[in-house]
Amino acid sequence: MDTFLLNDSENDLLKAAELIKNGSVVGLPTETVYGLGADAANEEAVRAIFAAKGRPADNPLIVHLADFSDAVKYTSAIPQLAYKLADRFCPGPLTMVLPKNDRIPMVTSGGLDTVGIRIPSHPVMHRIIELSGCPIAAPSANTSGYPSPTTAGHVMRDMQGKIAAIVDGGQSDFGVESTVISFDSEDTVRILRPGAVTREMLLEVCSDVIIDPAILHEVEEGAKVASPGMKYKHYSPKADIIMVESNLDEFLNVVEKNYGEDVYALIFDGDTCNCPYRHMTYGSDSSQQAHLLFQRLRELDEAGAKKVYVRAPSPEGIGLAVYNRLIRAAGFEVIRI
Ligand code: AMP
Ligand code: MG
Repeated sequence: MDTFLLNDSENDLLKAAELIKNGSVVGLPTETVYGLGADAANEEAVRAIFAAKGRPADNPLIVHLADFSDAVKYTSAIPQLAYKLADRFCPGPLTMVLPKNDRIPMVTSGGLDTVGIRIPSHPVMHRIIELSGCPIAAPSANTSGYPSPTTAGHVMRDMQGKIAAIVDGGQSDFGVESTVISFDSEDTVRILRPGAVTREMLLEVCSDVIIDPAILHEVEEGAKVASPGMKYKHYSPKADIIMVESNLDEFLNVVEKNYGEDVYALIFDGDTCNCPYRHMTYGSDSSQQAHLLFQRLRELDEAGAKKVYVRAPSPEGIGLAVYNRLIRAAGFEVIRI
């Protein structure tokens, strides 16, 4: 099939909404990363998302709604705390896992009896949800396992010929996927995937916020996980990624010892004057690192990198999300000095 590139004009957004209403899959911009959207209530359309990505069937899709007040249509119970969180963080990069009802088919939830609900703030995504009148299931619009897309061009590279259209809404603001939480008790949530809504921000509303251990540690084969996405190799470019937790001098020693053809360093903006090796940079603070990480991982592949030593980001604030994506991209290969 031909994959049409649409823009953010009202006319093109109507076309995208029409495609989704009719069961097609469309690449959509959001404030986190680009998503692969289809009608969450249409089993066949949802199967087409899994097929286009090559995504394992037990990895659930997040359902995107125009307003949190619509969540009652697709869930069977909503705790008071969820309303409080919605008041503070919706629309935005927060996904809440809630018990689903029958309007969300099992294919969409990866066989779980819960569904992740998110209210995106990106005006293009928001408008397409409104115009389609559909709950939109949308995982990240990358080939499964590869770094998530933050531009329409990335989506085109992964999905050309596999989906009906892509809407270009510019570069994603945050650059990492949403924070996913579940509810442990009346006043406690658990972070299943870190994102731009940080633990500190959630603590403004919740009495306690637990960071699920699987965020920073490898899940053993066959272990039961709270969030199926934790099981899979993720975010990895073709190049072999090695994360190095050290100061700049020690980092440069590691690169020196292992340097050779097709070896790159991925470092912070301020590091460059001291780095005599082939390198790229990914910003100087956690927000910039989040914004740039996936793009750089794709660019390193394009440059022909085979091995990349990456300076580990600080795991504070949104940095925890960057650290979580990188340690998975590295397949948990970390050098700590
Ligand atoms: P992606 O669609 O690529 O952003 O990935 C979504 C991730 O959110 C999945 O891999 C899961 O880890 C998590 N998730 C989505 N829905 C649920 C759910 N119902 N329960 C637990 N985790 C979920
Ligand atoms: Mg993904």
